[in-house]
Amino acid sequence: MYTEFFIDTHNEQEIIDLTDQVEDIVNKAGKKDGIVHIYVPHATAGIILNESADPNIKTDFLKALEKIVPKHGGYLHDRIDGNGAAHIKSSIVGSSITLPLKDGNLVIGRWQSIMFCEFDGPRRNRKIIVQII
Ligand code: ZN
Repeated sequence: MYTEFFIDTHNEQEIIDLTDQVEDIVNKAGKKDGIVHIYVPHATAGIILNESADPNIKTDFLKALEKIVPKHGGYLHDRIDGNGAAHIKSSIVGSSITLPLKDGNLVIGRWQSIMFCEFDGPRRNRKIIVQII
């Protein structure tokens, strides 16, 4: 079963919790067992699993990534559209995650959340694809 939904981002860099939306899709699908693949088809965004309860983790994560990949790093791609750092961060973070589906429920750690990472916002209509296999 293939589903997609869209979100708008509001900052240049931002981490947005998608766990509720994904669980809603999984619950409505009515499937019992399998795997849930969540995929972000964007070259300047990504998706991670981590804690959302403490919002400081989102800030810390973006800050740590900024140290590894500074915005003004002299990237060749900056000559095209000025977002070389966003492309590199997207590749480091990755574009998909896969979770088990067991007895109709998404199997996810108590302190894990599914979170969209914006690295070149704000943007409208960032797409998230959820496929249950
Ligand atoms: Zn670019």
